[in-house]
Amino acid sequence: MPDLNPSTPSAGPGRKLALRGDLLDFTAQPDWGQLDSPAVRFQPDHWLLIDEAGRIAGTQASEPDASWQQVDHRGRLILPGFIDTHVHCPQLDVIASYGAELLDWLSRYTFPAERRYADPAVAAAGAARFLDALLAHGSTSAVVFPTVHKGSAEALFAAAEARGMRLITGKVLMDRHAPPELLDDVAGAERDCIDLIQRWHGKGRLAYAVTPRFAPTSSPAQLAMAGALCRADASLYMQTHVAENREEVRWVAELFPEARSYLDVYERVGLLHERAILAHGIWLDETDRRLLAARGGQVAHSPSSNLFLGSGLFDWPAARASGLGVSMASDVGGGTSLSMQRNLLDAYKIQALSGQRLSAWVALHAATRGAAEALGLQQEVGHFGLGTLADVCVWDWARGPVAQARDERVAPGHEPQALHERVFAWMSLSDERNLHSCYVAGQCRHQRDS
Ligand SMILES: [Zn+2]
Repeated sequence: MPDLNPSTPSAGPGRKLALRGDLLDFTAQPDWGQLDSPAVRFQPDHWLLIDEAGRIAGTQASEPDASWQQVDHRGRLILPGFIDTHVHCPQLDVIASYGAELLDWLSRYTFPAERRYADPAVAAAGAARFLDALLAHGSTSAVVFPTVHKGSAEALFAAAEARGMRLITGKVLMDRHAPPELLDDVAGAERDCIDLIQRWHGKGRLAYAVTPRFAPTSSPAQLAMAGALCRADASLYMQTHVAENREEVRWVAELFPEARSYLDVYERVGLLHERAILAHGIWLDETDRRLLAARGGQVAHSPSSNLFLGSGLFDWPAARASGLGVSMASDVGGGTSLSMQRNLLDAYKIQALSGQRLSAWVALHAATRGAAEALGLQQEVGHFGLGTLADVCVWDWARGPVAQARDERVAPGHEPQALHERVFAWMSLSDERNLHSCYVAGQCRHQRDS
């Protein structure tokens, strides 16, 4: 567990906390392309009040009384912590590996890295390093792939619990088409899942996700077992990959000739439901999108990964038109950065290549409140609503002469269009180096230079 900096005030018994800065969050989903969106709640130079239980107690322009510990971040941007809805803990070790598309990349880089997680000491150290890295990038909640090893899920749950983080994960299911050391079997995997669910699901801020890696690496029997687990307990999440890469889509069609589409493989066994998180979804068709929307599932859009592996350009407007929820994900190590801003900028570029413009509002909403709603966690995280847990990040508006000069040009106006200009420049030019401090449930868990 990371040391809390004793010089940094946190909320706790007998200790209320008030943070001063420019507060930005969302009250609803912004319309595509609308820059003066009423869904944006910007409260410049306000106080964010956090009660003793680490929950948001309100916001106000006036200075709170002396019963509150005050931290003055005047001139900084304060946002809800980011929610990374698809990321692989063991792949931090293979981030930025050269020259491969998805299937080749898995066998050349990913599977060898995941093998090391059979060792509980490697899994424990990897989980700690990974969660601290998330916090140092401003992501306070995450939906995470560990490895096929039960101990790797165990290690993530324990490390998240120690940090008070909202974490959704589950042992990866994989019983074919991978190296033998990374394969489980249906009966053993089912026992491991049930044991992990009993021990961790619903404990504090932790939840279990049934986690078939993707259709090609699970036998039909294993997929059926995964579907049965979901049907037996509607509070379980389900995470997997779908329609990321054209070669992969072709392979799935060969392996499952009876299915109408890649997504239909999951539909047939009952894996699509309100708590289903499907990474990528680039090569879904309209029938797929409508089906996934009808089931209440969401796409975890992974822009950096999609560009890096050359997987394709996600059609976000089509997803919205189908009523499909879209959240934002780094997909490290296919993605090249845990920084949500870098991923948001990549998402902007993907839309630009498709002749669309992604506003900073739609982008930031998908990484905060939109992700929380898609996960059914809007009572807990994603915005500054009363009673939500204070997962909060404090950011510099600009670091370095280029960003500072740009920010000075756009900073003066608070009218909606000018505000969008400033926040878009921040989203485009900032990264984890802009993060000043990161709070989880009112506890300072990361601070620059500490
Ligand atoms: Zn992935």
